[in-house]
Amino acid sequence: MSLHVTILPGDGIGPEVTEAAERVLAVACEAAGIGLRTDHELFGGAAIDATGDPFPEKTRHACLTCDAVLLGAVGGPRWDEAAKTGGPRPEKGLLALRSAMGLFANLRPSRLFPGMEDASPLRPERVEGTDVLIVRELTGGVYFGEKTEGTEAASDLMPYSRAEVERVVRVAFEAARGRKKHLTSVDKANVLATSRLWRHAVEALAPDYPDVTVDHVLVDAMAMHLTTRPARFDVVVTENLFGDVLSDELSAVVGSIGLAASASLGEPGKPGVYEPIHGSAPDIAGQSAANPAGAILSAAMLLRHSGDAPEAAARIEAAVEAALGQGLRTRDLGGSASTEDFTKAVLAAL
Ligand code: ATP
Ligand code: MG
Repeated sequence: MSLHVTILPGDGIGPEVTEAAERVLAVACEAAGIGLRTDHELFGGAAIDATGDPFPEKTRHACLTCDAVLLGAVGGPRWDEAAKTGGPRPEKGLLALRSAMGLFANLRPSRLFPGMEDASPLRPERVEGTDVLIVRELTGGVYFGEKTEGTEAASDLMPYSRAEVERVVRVAFEAARGRKKHLTSVDKANVLATSRLWRHAVEALAPDYPDVTVDHVLVDAMAMHLTTRPARFDVVVTENLFGDVLSDELSAVVGSIGLAASASLGEPGKPGVYEPIHGSAPDIAGQSAANPAGAILSAAMLLRHSGDAPEAAARIEAAVEAALGQGLRTRDLGGSASTEDFTKAVLAAL
């Protein structure tokens, strides 16, 4: 078996954490007998500096022809400043990448790692056992609906088609099958027409997955449940805006932003994009202070979803857990371990 990964290091700490993740991926692939081929392409601010375009044609071509994309992070103050006088924004590259690759499902696991209870704002008995996968719809809803701008009145349309709902809900059902077989669909069906469509589509698909139990929770109640009893959930599926808010909430509930991974998926068989949820962290870039765990765990998701290698993925996750278990903590977790210290510990555990 072989795996062709396009790496987009991006900006700030992006290159530092993707370098760590690539080393871990290489060792995991070798152990699993997977032939790994990587190429590195310009993206975000780095691509603007070199070509004037945050998502150059060469990068687009590489992303569309590989098996999976591993992304660091994009953006920084230099490009924010330039954008004020009409310069291109690195973040535009991210939206262009998502739409070019048709990435409609964003998977964000939030798990409490052993010994990380102190990183949670919740009391230990409340957060204990939390292991939730949020599946967020990524290319529809209010972010993409028609807008009217104004200083006296404004509006944002929130359109969804049945097909758009069904394809992401299927991803969530499939994910639940591989986990604790429980799906929670989050909506606001007491107020929103799109939520009633959403609920109807979930109910209609449920008979295809008789092994998965389903419940529906209103988004306001869900925001509360995630801080009072997050451990009762398994897979959560929701539309774009609700998913954006709830996934940030949940990542804070289980601890540091430096630990959180994500996968953005399109049609089955098409390449996905795997990236840590953190940004380019310009305040710590170049200091070897970045926590590479989020990027390394994103590489594990890559092996699971694009590499069809769940055992290799689990081995990487166990190695990260082992490194944390040894007490290795980067600055975001209140420690002083460097990116290199942490990466070496993961490699050793592998
Ligand atoms: P974006 O808009 O791209 O999300 P941001 O500035 O909102 O960027 P981050 O870049 O994620 O957010 O940084 C938020 C804070 O978290 C910063 O103080 C940063 O140093 C810290 N941080 C983010 N990622 C990491 C990491 N991997 N390791 C250590 N600290 C991190
Ligand atoms: Mg941010």
